[in-house]
Amino acid sequence: MNQNPALDYLSASRLKSFLSCRLKFYYEKVLKLPAPSSPNLQIGKAVHAGLEALHKAQWEGQPHDTDTVLKAYEDAYTSLEAEDPVDYGNKDRESCLETGKRTLRAFLESDLVNDPRPIRGVEVTLRREDDELPIPLLGVVDLVRENTAIDFKTVGATPDLKEEAWSHELQMICYFLLLADATGELPAPAELVYLVKTKTPKVIRHQLPTIDLIQMERFRRLVDVYVDANQRQEYYPSPGMHCRWCEFRSRCRAWGQKSNAA
Ligand code: SF4
Repeated sequence: MNQNPALDYLSASRLKSFLSCRLKFYYEKVLKLPAPSSPNLQIGKAVHAGLEALHKAQWEGQPHDTDTVLKAYEDAYTSLEAEDPVDYGNKDRESCLETGKRTLRAFLESDLVNDPRPIRGVEVTLRREDDELPIPLLGVVDLVRENTAIDFKTVGATPDLKEEAWSHELQMICYFLLLADATGELPAPAELVYLVKTKTPKVIRHQLPTIDLIQMERFRRLVDVYVDANQRQEYYPSPGMHCRWCEFRSRCRAWGQKSNAA
């Protein structure tokens, strides 16, 4: 049995965290140290819960009017806060709650709510375990319509779609591999739907390009690096812009002392 929980399975978020800073990955995914939720994360999770309620109701032919979806959002907001306290800093709880509501309402008023493609899964947990990868691959897909994986992202500003496609490449490859394995079909290119939390919220649908062989080969090599580094327990800090949002800065500062060394 593996001693290192990072080797139990691979996921897009594990891989992304590992690549951005191995020490943060170690604190987050290996030691599983608790970190306070940020207001943006809290809004994003609760909006996701509202979307999940909407799509489940559509799938099951249940009522899914605006009030029902907003109630699911508010309930999720409250229970998420109880499970995982939010550090609001200088932000106000009520205005955060309202931002999510406004954003969700924009989605409910968009054409995407009447997407005619049949729903095949909502918040689907998929696991792939075969000779293609050295450890199992795990992922939760927000929504599957026909053979397309759809992921919802709540963002603070209008995204640059080319940049976003580049930065979410790993996640899209994981979805491609998971969906192909689960359905036995060649998946359609994945879609990202951005819910932009501006004063007048926007909803932007972005269909990503098909995954090519070069991307697939890059992915396999990264997986090998991930497995090898975790077997060797090679964790170290990678200071950069991302440190601004890191919850482990004080712990990181002490890294290198015997009791804190990875
Ligand atoms: S502060 Fe920066 S270098 Fe340190 S763990 Fe966090 S992300 Fe990594």
